[in-house]
Amino acid sequence: MAYLHCHACGWSQDDFWNWRYNPLTKLWDCAKWLIRPRWMELDGWLIDDLVKYTGVAIYRRRAAFTPQRYNKDVAWSLKPVSAYEQSSKGATGVFSWQWLWLEVVKEWKLFVQQRWWTYASWKKARKRATCPKCKQKKFDID
Ligand SMILES: [Zn+2]
Repeated sequence: MAYLHCHACGWSQDDFWNWRYNPLTKLWDCAKWLIRPRWMELDGWLIDDLVKYTGVAIYRRRAAFTPQRYNKDVAWSLKPVSAYEQSSKGATGVFSWQWLWLEVVKEWKLFVQQRWWTYASWKKARKRATCPKCKQKKFDID
């Protein structure tokens, strides 16, 4: 994988796509993981980052594990959390279908901002390429 970004302004795009890694394979992987309806636990920082990036409002619940029945998928409190907790890192339970929608929006945003789709297209363009945001030539690939 190769992640193209600009050192001058922070612009970045998704890793270059290939036949195994592209918007369709990524969505398919997400769908396989998220299509079964259930509550699941994610890291609070991850939820915060992706909600901010996509603008998709995610309804959160607080995890309520019981020692005897530890199962991430079912052991959720049925109580909705307060408005305050909705924005706190404590509530990290999200519903799979809602998360799937967020992933669709995320992939769409990445798709739209992908300037060079493949490494080959980047190699062809890189001599004359300038950053889409700041128009400088301070690219780097990690
Ligand atoms: Zn730039």
